[in-house]
Amino acid sequence: TVQLSDRVQTIKPSPTLAVTNRAAEMRAAGHDIIGLGAGEPDFDTPQHIKEAAIAALNRGLTKYTAVEGTPSLKKAIVEKFARENQLTYTAKQILVSVGGKHSFYNLAQALLNPGDEVIIPAPYWVSYPDMCLLAGAVPVIVSAGIEQNFKLTPEQIAAAITDKTRLFVLNSPSNPTGVHYTNEELAALGKMLLNYPHVLVATDDMYEHILWEGMPFKNILNFTPELYERTIVLNGVSKAYAMTGWRIGYAAGPEPLIKAMGNIQSQSTSNPTSIAQYAAEAALNGDQSFIADMVKVFKERHDFVLSELLKIDGVRCSPCQGTFYIFPSFEGVIARMGMKDDLALAEYLIEKAGVALVPGSAFGAPGYGRISFATSMENLQKAMQRLQTALA
Ligand code: PLP
Repeated sequence: TVQLSDRVQTIKPSPTLAVTNRAAEMRAAGHDIIGLGAGEPDFDTPQHIKEAAIAALNRGLTKYTAVEGTPSLKKAIVEKFARENQLTYTAKQILVSVGGKHSFYNLAQALLNPGDEVIIPAPYWVSYPDMCLLAGAVPVIVSAGIEQNFKLTPEQIAAAITDKTRLFVLNSPSNPTGVHYTNEELAALGKMLLNYPHVLVATDDMYEHILWEGMPFKNILNFTPELYERTIVLNGVSKAYAMTGWRIGYAAGPEPLIKAMGNIQSQSTSNPTSIAQYAAEAALNGDQSFIADMVKVFKERHDFVLSELLKIDGVRCSPCQGTFYIFPSFEGVIARMGMKDDLALAEYLIEKAGVALVPGSAFGAPGYGRISFATSMENLQKAMQRLQTALA
C-alpha cells in the first residue's frame, strides 16, 4: 500500500461536494432527489462574459500569461476596488488565482507556520480549517449560534487571541449562514483588532454582491483603515457572475505577502486559465445589471424558504441578508424525533424525503443544516412540502 504524507492525512474531502455526489448517486440509482446542497448560482454566465472568452480564444490568447494575472485583468481589479469598495491598491498588490479557494490556499501557504493559530468563526466555510491544517497551522474555532444570529462579538474573538494567533478570518455575507455584519458591528470588530497588531485579517468578500438588505456592502477596512497593512481582501467572480466553473479568484493586500503568494502559485499552478481571465475582466468592467436581477430572485426564494421552514415544529430560523443559503436550527426536530444528530437527520431526509441538504456539522455547527436556494422555485416548493411531511 502507498504510504501517504502526514500532511494529507490531516484533512478530509470537502463535505459539501460529498453531499452533491451522494445526491447524484441516489439519482443515478433511480431515486427522485431534490438537491439543496448547491454551492453555486443556478444561473448561466451572462452572454457578454462568454463572448469575451470566445473573442480571446479567437485572438489566440491561449498561451501562458503572467503568473499573477494579466495586466489588464489586474487593472480591472484595481479599478473595481476603487469604484466599489473605496480601497486603493496598485497592480503589484493583486494576485489572480484559480478561484477564491486557491487565493485562500496561497495565503495559508505563504503566511502560516506549524503551530500558528488561525481564528475561524463558526459556522464557517468548510475549506478554511482544512487549508490551515494543510499548512500545519491550528484552526481555533469560535462559535456563534442562532441566538446571537451567527455573529461573533469583539469580546469573543479577543478571548481567543493568543501570542500564536496569526490570522483572523472574516466572511460576511457568510457561507453557510447568509448573515452579514452591520456597519456598526464591523467597526467594532476593527476597533478590537487594533489592540492586536500581530494578528492579520483575511476578509473573504466572495458574497459581497449577493446582499439584499438595503445598505451597500462594506469592508472592514472602510471603518478601520489602520488595518490596511495587515489585511488581505479575498474575492472572485465565481458567485456574483455565476462563473464558478471558470475558476477565477483574487487577493489584494500588502505587497510582500502578495509576492510570496505569487511565488507559491508560480511553483504550483502558474497562471489561471488565460481565456477565463479575459472573461473575468469583462465581468468586472462590463454591465452589472445581471447581479441585481439574480439577487432579486434569490431574495424571493429566501423569503419563501424561510416562511416554509418556520411551519415545521422544532425548526428555528432567522432571516438572512444575502448569499443563497439559509441555516436553520433543527435541534428541536432532532430531539422531538429522537434522532442522534444532524448527520442522522440529513441521512433521514435524503432517504425518506428525497431532499439533500448539508448537515451543519460540516460547517462546525452541529444541530443545524444548510439549505441552498440556488435552485428553481418549483424545486423549492416541492422540497419544502417534502420536508414538512417527513418532519411532521
Ligand atoms: N469563499 C467562500 C465563503 C465560498 O463559499 C466559496 C465557494 O464556495 C469560495 C470562497 C471559493 O469560491 P471559488 O473557489 O469557487 O472561487
